[in-house]
Amino acid sequence: MPQNTRITVAHGDGIGPEIMGATLRVLEAADARLSYDTIEIGKKVYESGNTAGIPDAAWDTLRENRIFLKAPITTPQGGGYKSLNVTIRKTLSLYANVRRSVSYHPMVKTHHPKMDVVIVRENEEDLYAGIEHRQTEEVLQCLKLISKPGSQRLIRYAFEYAQRHGRKSVTCMVKDNIMKLTDGMFHKIFGQVGREYPNIAKRVVIVDIGAARLAQRPEDFDVVVMPNLYGDILSDIAAEITGSVGLGGSANIGEYCSMFEAIHGSAPDIAGQGIANPSGLLLASVMMLAHLGQGDVAARIHNAWLRTLEDGVHTGDIFRHETSSVRVGTDGFTDAVIARLGEYPRKLDVVTYPVFESPLRKPVERRMPPPPRKEKKLVGVDVFLDWRGPDPDTLGSKLAECGTDALQLVMITNRGVKVWPGGVPETFCTDHWRCRFQPPGAIDGTDPDATISHGDVLALLQRVHEAGFDFIKTEHLCTFNGIKGYSLGQGQ
Ligand code: NAD
Repeated sequence: MPQNTRITVAHGDGIGPEIMGATLRVLEAADARLSYDTIEIGKKVYESGNTAGIPDAAWDTLRENRIFLKAPITTPQGGGYKSLNVTIRKTLSLYANVRRSVSYHPMVKTHHPKMDVVIVRENEEDLYAGIEHRQTEEVLQCLKLISKPGSQRLIRYAFEYAQRHGRKSVTCMVKDNIMKLTDGMFHKIFGQVGREYPNIAKRVVIVDIGAARLAQRPEDFDVVVMPNLYGDILSDIAAEITGSVGLGGSANIGEYCSMFEAIHGSAPDIAGQGIANPSGLLLASVMMLAHLGQGDVAARIHNAWLRTLEDGVHTGDIFRHETSSVRVGTDGFTDAVIARLGEYPRKLDVVTYPVFESPLRKPVERRMPPPPRKEKKLVGVDVFLDWRGPDPDTLGSKLAECGTDALQLVMITNRGVKVWPGGVPETFCTDHWRCRFQPPGAIDGTDPDATISHGDVLALLQRVHEAGFDFIKTEHLCTFNGIKGYSLGQGQ
């Protein structure tokens, strides 16, 4: 008999304790091979003065058990409270968010009866790194960070998930026609990792048309993998069009720890009334069992749940006279699922999950040695200025005088559009200017491989400062094994 897996649970706020109680009852009745440690997080902890909403000791339990089943919590409004979900996700490096959006037609009304889409979304990087700056009075920036190892492990997880769950295809959605470097790398890695999974169909679509198609013909999609922002938006669209957003569970997967929860929040408006639908958390626990390799238990619960839905035993949130036979509360629904353990749906598809040895790993102390580094050369610098003046030509001629023997002004752009030399009068300019400096040999082609030093950049900045300009940041222009690591200005 395999050993029980010890997991951490948090009962949460609002309807949290009710739906967690229901979920644990089903897990017990289904003989899940689990034992539990409970931690206190959320409202009470926030109100005790802990702005993170999680006591220090809880981290030890989370790290030790590595699997976390979490009920929704209430984040108090205002007062500098941090989102607990973001804190947990970032602290434990939960890099992949997985959401499955399924239609339960005809039990739940939807225009898309054949939909079953799993969205695997990057969870830590992209525009969500939270690095934002106001650089001038008129312009603010948010950094979009896409890392190679972050993309590799996410995409690999998506393919592993597809393989393990017998899925046929993985679609990658990016916007690399515009963001050629960041999304371009994500696309490239999708191709590289995908080659290791010859039995799974692969395709890449631009996210705008991809989103439109997902909303129109979701049955054409199977597993979809995306950077953070696109995934955030598309997973909500996917859940919404199933008509069953309140029934969804989600998984946040890390290399060492993973967290499973319902998509919905703590529903304080119905808390304590015994009417909450426990399905979101229950299906999150099914995802957790599948992740742990307890596919037999996961399938037993999932099939019993599908049968309950089919039998028309519904909580108030999904009760419809055409499809429901009996309206029940949280306890009544839970009893109905437990009574159907061992049974299968008759109209909806029966689900199966693989059984395997738990993949849980402890963190290793030292990281693997990094792969050999590419040859990186510094070949120029973009100096960003906060400047207000009559026109770009005035800026260009004054700034060109700041050039040194090592670095000369090549171009100036405003919001990415070239305005010097030779701009057009229609360009709308703000007070934020990107000024590109490169070695003279690279500009006139006599020494295309010319490099510069950090000292050259400092000398240039000194002259820019002495000429009275307010420089707000610099970005180095580098090549990696001879390939440009920067984009060209529009019109350059
Ligand atoms: P919500 O999801 O809690 O509620 C939206 C509506 O759906 C409400 O009318 C609610 O009654 C209903 N609802 C939600 N879950 C239900 C269920 N299981 N059964 C029946 N009806 C259900 O969203 P909200 O009202 O915007 O947020 C309430 C609180 O939850 C906020 O404090 C928010 O910060 C928090 N929240 C937490 C999480 C989380 O812990 N992961 C996620 C989202 C929101």
